[in-house]
Amino acid sequence: MLHLTNYTEMKSKLSLKIVFVMMLFAVTVSAQEKTKHEETEIWQPVPKIVTPGVTAIAAPSDAIILFGGTDASAWKGKDGGAVKWKIADGAITIDPAVGDITTKQSFGDCQLHIEWRTPAEPKGNSQERGNSGVFLMSRYELQVLDSYNNPTYVNGQAGSIYKQLIPLVNVCRPPGQWQTYDVVFTAPRFNADGTVKTPADITVLQNGILVQNHGIILGSTTFVGKPQYKKHNAEEPLLLQCHNNAVSYRNIWIRKL
Ligand code: MG
Repeated sequence: MLHLTNYTEMKSKLSLKIVFVMMLFAVTVSAQEKTKHEETEIWQPVPKIVTPGVTAIAAPSDAIILFGGTDASAWKGKDGGAVKWKIADGAITIDPAVGDITTKQSFGDCQLHIEWRTPAEPKGNSQERGNSGVFLMSRYELQVLDSYNNPTYVNGQAGSIYKQLIPLVNVCRPPGQWQTYDVVFTAPRFNADGTVKTPADITVLQNGILVQNHGIILGSTTFVGKPQYKKHNAEEPLLLQCHNNAVSYRNIWIRKL
């Protein structure tokens, strides 16, 4: 008799569950019927048309050409005058006697493409071999270095944000070969009192491979001590570092974001 009672109770509970599930199904179907597919479609604003380059490394139609192979007029020397690095064979090569160069134009949030080549004959070790650097906003250094069989501190090798962010992998080609950096950079934002609202953020592909993934920059690049932020303009020039090695650059273009 006891068993029979349990059985009846179980049957009753099961029936209730089935009814509940059916009701839930009916409500869901009804809600879906009321939602139209148009409600989740966005038609405005329409993204502007940008014509891509012939290849992924060629400048798209909305890029600012910073160096196309023959003309360094987008840049200035340390003294503010014309750039005295050597231009030949579609590349511009650092003259160690001359110093850094900066763009005449300033940039904040951007997408940057730049190609670089360290000297074919490797000389020196660690930081002395094929050293240069791409300084976003003239302050945040994406390191350029011959890191092919050249150990150094890992937050100072190619693909690092110098003394801050180690690259995810080492994808360096041998010296003398061209390499690419494709950078997506978000400039820092500052409060009126000079404190940091949001730090700079950087994503870098070297030779098409991700080496920095939304890396958070800690402040201006510094050789000694901890990096710190100091309020600056929303846009600042791009700087290429002269570090006493004859590193070459070519095909440099940038898109403001
Ligand atoms: Mg450097």
